[in-house]
Amino acid sequence: MQYFPIFLDTSELQCLVVGAGEVAARKIELLLKTHAKVTVVAPWACDTVLRLQSAKKIQFHQRVYQASDLAQQQLVFVATDDAEVNRQVHDHARAQNVLVNVVDNIPLCQFITPSIVDRAPITIAISSGGVAPVLLRYLRQKLESVIPQNVSLLGQFSEKFRDVVKHTLKSVTARRFFWEDVLDGDIAENVLLGNAALAEEKLLAKLADDANAKQQGEVYLVGAGPGDPDLLTFRALRLMQKADVVVYDRLVSPQIVELVRRDAEKIYVGKAKSKHTVPQEEINELLAREALAGKRVVRLKGGDPFIFGRGGEEIETLVARGVNFQVVPGITAASGAASYAGIPLTHRDHAKSVVFATGHLQDNSINLNWQGLAQPDQTIVFYMGLTGLGIICQQLVKHGLPETTPIAMVQSATTPQQKVITGTFADIQQKAEAADIQPPALIIVGSVVSLHEKLNWFTSTGS
Ligand code: SAH
Repeated sequence: MQYFPIFLDTSELQCLVVGAGEVAARKIELLLKTHAKVTVVAPWACDTVLRLQSAKKIQFHQRVYQASDLAQQQLVFVATDDAEVNRQVHDHARAQNVLVNVVDNIPLCQFITPSIVDRAPITIAISSGGVAPVLLRYLRQKLESVIPQNVSLLGQFSEKFRDVVKHTLKSVTARRFFWEDVLDGDIAENVLLGNAALAEEKLLAKLADDANAKQQGEVYLVGAGPGDPDLLTFRALRLMQKADVVVYDRLVSPQIVELVRRDAEKIYVGKAKSKHTVPQEEINELLAREALAGKRVVRLKGGDPFIFGRGGEEIETLVARGVNFQVVPGITAASGAASYAGIPLTHRDHAKSVVFATGHLQDNSINLNWQGLAQPDQTIVFYMGLTGLGIICQQLVKHGLPETTPIAMVQSATTPQQKVITGTFADIQQKAEAADIQPPALIIVGSVVSLHEKLNWFTSTGS
């Protein structure tokens, strides 16, 4: 981020504008929406500037710029059509530590002004850092259309009750819960509809209730899906944006962690294979402890929490401690990998059942009902099977599947790094090695794999 976004308090701000043509006028009008004191210097002025001068909104000096004009100023906008003057003002401003913006000349701008969606007291400022103005205009239009005009009513309503809420609810978290409920529910709805009196009555009733209630934390066990953030559920996203604490591990992609509420405490608990940074019991304890302290804890899990996710163990501890919780399902890796690799897990001509199994090695073997797995017309998906690939192939052949059975490996399914390789029990190991397949990877076994060639649609940047 090259430009640091801030909002300046303008109540004491002195601002100089050099130039008084139409371009300068637009900046002046923008400044006049604030409390800044605006001084304008230029040898001539357009009608707008003259009008603002006669309305006493600005101080206008009709003459050429001189270096002493910068004295007492904190900001300067330069908008003359003389490149030499623009540069000169820029150089003087830099020397005197006055923040300078030469309009439409990024190299001479120490700060840039964002594009604004104005719903005072709510102001949304967006910027492309000057590099994609058309995209920026497009995004702004989108924002304008999705943010209701009367959201400003909500802003004013919140402002009106800010102090009394602060005074009544002492903890920051309690206040946040309060305002989230207000904005999420029928109180805000009433404000937006213009029923301010009813909204006010309900708000005060709720405030009295909340002041008497003991703050209860909660744990949300949330499936984050296989990697692509677009595959999160709406509920997952909503809870992630409400969280006080987020506990996540390696399978949760950084793009998904980015979507968590910015102020939430983010706790990484590892879980790379054979590098368990935090033991499971400690994770269970951590969730209970944070919730009992009144916080809203999101436990983010790759895929689905109840499929090889140890989600069951985590909530058993919560039940034992009397902590409230919810479970939010996610798209499991098998579904994600199958869809994005074009391998339907069932198909009328190929498979009538599908089994999810763990390929996790323990003491160099995998303890599974191999006979039950090695069935015709069945798809088998192995999670955690990368290291055990050789044993999986051996066992399935030993229990009756032909050596020519199609098998696929899908690495980092649904992400830009997705890689898919296909083969048979006879050659998949060598192919996996040649393709340097890395975790997380899923193994799909069965004749459905033969459809990959025809149904493959997802092109990742990584393969
Ligand atoms: N709860 C998770 C599974 C966790 S077990 C879920 O429902 O998906 C971890 C295993 O999941 C990994 O060893 C790998 O086999 C598989 N896995 C998870 N994400 C994956 C991905 N994006 N691509 C391929 N396999 C993945």
